[in-house]
Amino acid sequence: MQDVIIIGAGPAGLSTAFWCDELGLDTLLLEQAEQLGGQLHRVYNPVKNYLGLNTSNGKELLELFTKDVDAADFDLWTQTAITSADLKARRLSLQSGELLQSISIVIATGVRPRQLGVPGEKELVGKGMIESATRDRDRFAGRDVCVVGGGDAAVENALLLAEVCPTVTLVYRGKKLRARRELAQRLQSSHRITVFTESVLTRIIGDEEVQAVEVRRKEGLKPFQIAVRGVLIRIGVKPNTELFREQLETDDNGYIRVSSEQETSVPMVFAVGDVSNPIAPTISSATGAGATAAKVIAARLNARRND
Ligand SMILES: Cc1cc2nc3c(=O)[nH]c(=O)nc-3n(C[C@H](O)[C@H](O)[C@H](O)COP(=O)(O)OP(=O)(O)OC[C@H]3O[C@@H](n4cnc5c(N)ncnc54)[C@H](O)[C@@H]3O)c2cc1C
Repeated sequence: MQDVIIIGAGPAGLSTAFWCDELGLDTLLLEQAEQLGGQLHRVYNPVKNYLGLNTSNGKELLELFTKDVDAADFDLWTQTAITSADLKARRLSLQSGELLQSISIVIATGVRPRQLGVPGEKELVGKGMIESATRDRDRFAGRDVCVVGGGDAAVENALLLAEVCPTVTLVYRGKKLRARRELAQRLQSSHRITVFTESVLTRIIGDEEVQAVEVRRKEGLKPFQIAVRGVLIRIGVKPNTELFREQLETDDNGYIRVSSEQETSVPMVFAVGDVSNPIAPTISSATGAGATAAKVIAARLNARRND
C-alpha cells in the first residue's frame, strides 16, 4: 500500500511526485510512455513564461526538471499503462495484470491533440502531416500547405508557415475565427493565406506523400480539392479521462472537476494539470497544482497518523 500513486509524468505529475517526496510520502509515479515529460516533447517554441527560467524549447525545460527529479527518491515506473481503475477503492490494474492499491491517487494524465478522424490523416503521418510550424517550417518551405482550425494555435502556425510557403489555406468549420484579434488581423493582412470558414476538411489525399485535401464548404455542397504538400491540424485537445469518467465528476468536455485543494468528487482522489484545467493549461499551473495536491495529501495523512 503506497501513500500516493500518481498517474502521468508530465509537468503536473512530476511536480506532484517531487513535492510528495519532499514531504516524506511513500510515492509511486506511473507513466505509460517510455519517456517522462508529456507535452513538453511537443513544445518546439521557446518557453519564456515559466518564471525564473527561459529555455529554447520544452525538452530543455524537461532536462532541468529531470535533474531535480533524479535527485528525489520516489518510485517511477515508465511504460506502465493502467487498464482499469476503481477510484473509490483506490485500486488500479496494470496491463501486466498487477494490482496496485494506494491511500491516495493523483490523476495527472494531461490532454492529447484532437483528431479530425478523416481518411488519410493517420495513413499520411510522416508523409506530409506537419506536427509543428516552428519545427517543420524549413522542411515545408516553398510548398503549398493547409492548416485546419480557427483558434490561436492554428492561426499562429498558419502565420509562421506563410513566411516560407507560397500559399497557406486555412480551413475552419466555424463562422468566425476564434483566434485573438491581433493574430486575426495579421492573418487578414497576409496575401499568402486564404481562409475558408464554415468549411470542413473531409479527406487528405496522397499515397507516398500528401498531394491534396478535400474540403466541403457547406453541408450538401459538393466537396472540392486543393493541391497541397503539407497539412497541419490544430483543432484543440481532449482530456485523457476515459478511464475515470464514469466514476467522478467532469465537465461536459470530460475535464475533471476539482476543489481548491485539487480533490475530485471522490475523496482522496486528486487531479492536477491540464486534465483538470481547461482554463489555463500551462506548465506553471500544472506544477503549482501538483504542489497543492501534495501538501493536502501530506496534511491529511499526518492528521490520520496522529489520530
Ligand atoms: C505546442 C505546445 C506549446 C506549448 N507552449 C507552452 C508554453 O510556452 N508555456 C506553457 O506554460 N505551456 C505551454 N504548453 C502547455 C504545456 O505543455 C502543458 O500545459 C503541460 O505540459 C501540462 O502538463 P500535464 O502534466 O498536466 O500534462 P501532459 O504534459 O499532457 O502530461 C500528461 C502525461 O500523462 C501520461 N498519461 C496519460 N494517460 C496515462 C495513463 N493512463 N497512464 C499513465 N500515464 C498516462 C502521458 O503520457 C503524459 O506523459 C504548450 C503545449 C504545446 C502542445
